[in-house]
Amino acid sequence: MKKFLFRLWLMTLVVFTLDWLIVGLKLLNGDYNIAIGAYVALACVVILALYPLYRAFSHKCPYCGKLLASSGRYCPHCGRELTK
Ligand SMILES: [Zn+2]
Repeated sequence: MKKFLFRLWLMTLVVFTLDWLIVGLKLLNGDYNIAIGAYVALACVVILALYPLYRAFSHKCPYCGKLLASSGRYCPHCGRELTK
């Protein structure tokens, strides 16, 4: 599940970059009809911003339930070993 989300995030990053390239080229050509490109970019920004937030809030210790800021082997709160 997390790998799938990470791939989705990477895809969004690629789409976002390509989208801005297309929008930039359109603007350079004097074409200001970029509403769709702008919406796609906005959607991408939302996904790109939400994913790190989701990760930060979903990474919890299975023993004490506290949020884990780092991805170490041991929980900094209760000291138990974290298995994957
Ligand atoms: Zn813990």
